[in-house]
Amino acid sequence: MNQPWRAKAACNGLDPTIFYPQSDDEEEARKAKSVCAVCPVQNDCLEYALGFREKEGIWGGATERERRRIIRQRRRAAYAAAAAAGRRSA
Ligand code: SF4
Repeated sequence: MNQPWRAKAACNGLDPTIFYPQSDDEEEARKAKSVCAVCPVQNDCLEYALGFREKEGIWGGATERERRRIIRQRRRAAYAAAAAAGRRSA
């Protein structure tokens, strides 16, 4: 494991099951999200999960559905930036 940020994780020592709710329901995710909200490595955790396409659980304060949305938004932004750059160079 080469993720030094994990040593600072607010969830260290907590029951991991709260980060793996049965559904993507906001109510079920609330407890985990409240821990993530004060976690000093929230961004590192989220970027890790996005990069590895983690399918399960709450990472960086985001559910799987929310992470998929972030990936879609970033993809659209990258396409838009590439299209704009293409228009500028043409
Ligand atoms: S953001 Fe949440 S899941 Fe990620 S390390 Fe921090 S407390 Fe744990």
